[in-house]
Amino acid sequence: MDFNIFKKVSYGLYVVTSIREGKINGQIANTFFQITSDPVLVAIGINKSNLTHAYIKSSGIFAVSILPQSVPLDLIGHFGFKSGREIDKFASVPFEAGETGAPYLLENSIGYLEAQVVESFDAGTHSVFMARVVNTAVFSNEEPITYADYHYRKRSTGAGPSQQGKPDGGRGGRPLDQKYQCLICGYVYDPAAGDPETGIMPGTAFADIPDDWVCPICGVGKDQFEPIT
Ligand code: FE
Repeated sequence: MDFNIFKKVSYGLYVVTSIREGKINGQIANTFFQITSDPVLVAIGINKSNLTHAYIKSSGIFAVSILPQSVPLDLIGHFGFKSGREIDKFASVPFEAGETGAPYLLENSIGYLEAQVVESFDAGTHSVFMARVVNTAVFSNEEPITYADYHYRKRSTGAGPSQQGKPDGGRGGRPLDQKYQCLICGYVYDPAAGDPETGIMPGTAFADIPDDWVCPICGVGKDQFEPIT
C-alpha cells in the first residue's frame, strides 16, 4: 500500500467547537464534510482523546468555523496543538455563542454552521459524528484554506530570508546560524530572521531568546526545539 495516496486527498481546515454544561472548547479538524443536502447532513471525524470529543459525545452539539486562506498559523497552533484541559482556548479568541450554544469564531472565519448529532460511529481512535445542520452564516467571500495550503505555509515558515544578510557568528561559540526546529509543529527558528512579531530581533541566537518565549505556531516552550542542520 502506498500511503502517499492519502496526501493526494483534498481536505479543508476547520475549528470544530462544542459545549457541555456551559463549558466550551474547540479544536482544529480537517475531516469535515457534507453528506446530503436534503436534509442537510454533515459528518466529522474527531479523536476520542480530545476534550472536544467528550463535549460532542455528551451534548450532541458542535459548530464548525471555516478558516480563510489568510488565517494566521498561530491560530491553527492555538486550536490544534494545545489542549482545552490545560488552557481556556477562548480566553484570547473573540467568539459568540450560536443558537445551539456552541461557540463560533468572530475573526479569522469565513462562516460557520451548527449541527446536532443524529448518529455516531465508532472508528477506533476516532468517532465519526453524523449531524443535521441547524444554523449557518457566511461572513466573507474569501477562499477557504485547504489542508494542503496549511502544510505548504508551515513548510515555508522560517525558511525565509535566511540566506541573505546572515550575521557573522562567533559570540562565545554560540553559532548564530544554527537553526532550531519545533518538534511539535515543525516551525523552524532561523536566527537570521529572528521572530520580530514577538520582539526577537534578526540576528538573535536561539540560546539568547528569553526562556519564556514560545513557538509562534503551536505555543510550546524552547525545550521542545532541536537544532537542525
Ligand atoms: Fe511549534
